[in-house]
Amino acid sequence: AGGQPYCERHFHPIAGRCVTAMAQRFHPEHFVCAFCLRPLAKGTFQEQEGKPYCQPCSGIIGVPHGYGAAP
Ligand SMILES: [Zn+2]
Ligand SMILES: [Zn+2]
Repeated sequence: AGGQPYCERHFHPIAGRCVTAMAQRFHPEHFVCAFCLRPLAKGTFQEQEGKPYCQPCSGIIGVPHGYGAAP
């Protein structure tokens, strides 16, 4: 397997733009917070145990500060 990127959320091919994060690829609309499911922009998420979280949720679940986000 190889070549075509697959969205890690739904495991379907990504034809157009994709977001690369945590060594995985996602459709921009499918790269969402693992807690509240709101869309995330690349560079504004916090990773916890391999899942992306938005900044408010990262505060709720206690993600260590300073990964992937500008203050
Ligand atoms: Zn997708
Ligand atoms: Zn969230």
